[in-house]
Amino acid sequence: MIIVMHPEATPSEIDNVVAEVEAKGWQTHRSSDHGQTMIGLQGKGQPLDLFQLGQLPGVLDAMAITQKFKLASRAFRPENTTFQIGDFTVGGKQLAVIAGPCSVESREQLLETAHAVKEAGATFLRGGAYKPRTSPYSFQGMGEQGLQLLAEAREATGLPVVTEVMSPDKVKLVAVYADVLQIGARNMQNYDLLNAVGEAQRPVLLKRGMSATLEDLLMAAEYILSHGNNQVMLCERGIRTFDNKYARNTFDVNAIPTLKELTHLPLIADPSHAIGVRRHVKSVALAGVAAGADGLIIEVHPNPDAAVSDGPQSLTLPQFAELMQQVRAMAQAVGREA
Ligand code: PEP
Ligand code: MN
Repeated sequence: MIIVMHPEATPSEIDNVVAEVEAKGWQTHRSSDHGQTMIGLQGKGQPLDLFQLGQLPGVLDAMAITQKFKLASRAFRPENTTFQIGDFTVGGKQLAVIAGPCSVESREQLLETAHAVKEAGATFLRGGAYKPRTSPYSFQGMGEQGLQLLAEAREATGLPVVTEVMSPDKVKLVAVYADVLQIGARNMQNYDLLNAVGEAQRPVLLKRGMSATLEDLLMAAEYILSHGNNQVMLCERGIRTFDNKYARNTFDVNAIPTLKELTHLPLIADPSHAIGVRRHVKSVALAGVAAGADGLIIEVHPNPDAAVSDGPQSLTLPQFAELMQQVRAMAQAVGREA
């Protein structure tokens, strides 16, 4: 159950509600959304009368939410969540298009890509400075130097920056440079990290773990939301496939309408990591938009064959520009803009 307090509720009214339900054996969790307090109830207390709770001073609404995820659920917030990053509204009519290299490799590589994707219509720049690589012997990222290059590219293009953070102790540093903190698939259930980005009060791009159910993903989002950080975008990036001869993962297109029904949070599709094959990225991207995604994240590189990571799935700069033309047409067909 969630009790939503009136925006004008006083601290003593909030304390009073908490005392009332704790006296009935419930544990409480407080969070706030734009200054409005929410009290989540956990555990197994005595039955509560929703009507009576709703009458307590300062209470706006009391609702029973049967799903495991509460703050992420449509039952909690029926309207789509939108939030502002720079001049861009995530979750609105216009699709968020996040484009850039898998890894930041050099100043030249990043700036050339940033200018080209901006020109083609991207709304965010991506680039990894800390890379979660399957092998410890693979390139691990440029670290803080990579973050500095991302900030320079933002200055040069005006594109807000999305970059991955891999450990709780790096959240503060990455937040100095980045507009959006990316949680990678491999870290979706790193709860210390989720708590840290929740506290950072920065927009988060939360990628679905490769073997995570939709409920696992929503419960991971719940960790971030429970800190009062409501600026969370979910990302479908493909799930582990038994047939990895022709594709890196299976793009779970089913996840898109299903998540849009279950949650109010914006949803981004990642065709690059899903299929992992450059020539097919466009088809999967268009499928994501057709299914109702609020945006795309696409890997782009000036010379994909020389990329230090994920070259086989990275589009060239002209390929990205061509993709954007088709994304625009598809967006229009489903009542969106790009
Ligand atoms: C990435 O975005 O480059 C990345 C590592 O993605 P994922 O966490 O989805 O594998
Ligand atoms: Mn990548």
